[in-house]
Amino acid sequence: MPGAELIGREELVEIQELFDKEKVNLYRYGPGNYKTRKFEALFAEVMGVRYAHAVSSGTAAIHCALAGAGIGPGDEVITTAWTFIAPVEAISALGAIPVPVEIDETFHLDPLAVEQAISPKTKAVVVIPMWAPPKMDELSALCKRYGLVLIEDAAQALGASYHGRKLGTIGQVGSFSFDAGKTLHTGEGGMVITDDRDIYDRVAEFSDHGHMHLSGLPRGKDPRRAKGLNYRMSELTAAVGIAQLRKMAFILDRSQENKRKIKERLLDLPGLTFRAFSDEAGAQGDTLIFSLQEREQALRFEQELLSRGFGTKILPEALDWHFAGVWGHLLPQYDRYRDCDLESLWPETGRQLRRSICLNIPVSMDEGAIDALVAAVRSAAQAVNAF
Ligand SMILES: *Cc1c(COP(=O)(O)O)cnc(C)c1O
Repeated sequence: MPGAELIGREELVEIQELFDKEKVNLYRYGPGNYKTRKFEALFAEVMGVRYAHAVSSGTAAIHCALAGAGIGPGDEVITTAWTFIAPVEAISALGAIPVPVEIDETFHLDPLAVEQAISPKTKAVVVIPMWAPPKMDELSALCKRYGLVLIEDAAQALGASYHGRKLGTIGQVGSFSFDAGKTLHTGEGGMVITDDRDIYDRVAEFSDHGHMHLSGLPRGKDPRRAKGLNYRMSELTAAVGIAQLRKMAFILDRSQENKRKIKERLLDLPGLTFRAFSDEAGAQGDTLIFSLQEREQALRFEQELLSRGFGTKILPEALDWHFAGVWGHLLPQYDRYRDCDLESLWPETGRQLRRSICLNIPVSMDEGAIDALVAAVRSAAQAVNAF
């Protein structure tokens, strides 16, 4: 929860500036609009891309990214069976068909499973980097070979990279979230980035009822070429985002350093298998993931951590929101998932997730806090191994 930890005076100054203006206008297309444009320009600069478009949430961002990339009814979209549910909801909302596939040892899309899932209806692959890079070379090559759009829902991975390239900039379009659990926090908020002018235009239109934003025309006379929704970011949100963005380098630096220190002191523990990486140097510091031998041990481990005052992040406590194998409220609307035991469709992913622990690594940790977390993990490991 890095950005949320650091919300403070700087954000207030940006908001105050908004209210100091003669005529406060919190609506992004009004005459007072300037914070949203500034946030977008700064974000594009930090990411090294041509276009950034701010929207109202990370869910809105992936919905816009998919729509901007031309995903529509009947298209199959391959994504991972381990993800927060939002991208799957967005695929579904566009009338497209989500095709989750198994993860590999890096906890990301297994390129082999992706290739096996490609059909004549496949239109795109959505990679979901979970605080670290997927195997982007293999996945990019696959998308090129089969003529598929590569989309990055990098909501969890702002600031992470793959061999020096920022995540979110490798596919044709990338999306981010600024909710309370993400690198930057604006209350609610999201961003879409791309170098492709056509995708950018379509994203902006989709986020604003289809308005084509033609210059020189009053808003009411704006033409439309595709339908949309209202996913606009407000000026108030953008003001917070500008101040948060200035803290990003500090957030990434501190959490990576904290994670390095913590991991170093846990490496000797028997029975803990740390997750593999396609490029560990590019991983963010937000979380530390390791696996035990079996599910019962992971659940016991979680209890031991809780009894020492430490929680986990997603694994295992919020698995139900992050694993396709339990989405009986959503997937059975599609023929291919009706009347089947969902969990059995992604057996490897289920096994891997259910025996894993994901630790939250805060930004603000002094040596005492690091010692306490390390001690809690060490004694939990001891308890579990004795069990
Ligand atoms: C958090 C998250 C989202 C949704 O972001 P919100 O801002 O909460 O709507 C989308 N995709 C992924 C991968 C996420 O982790």
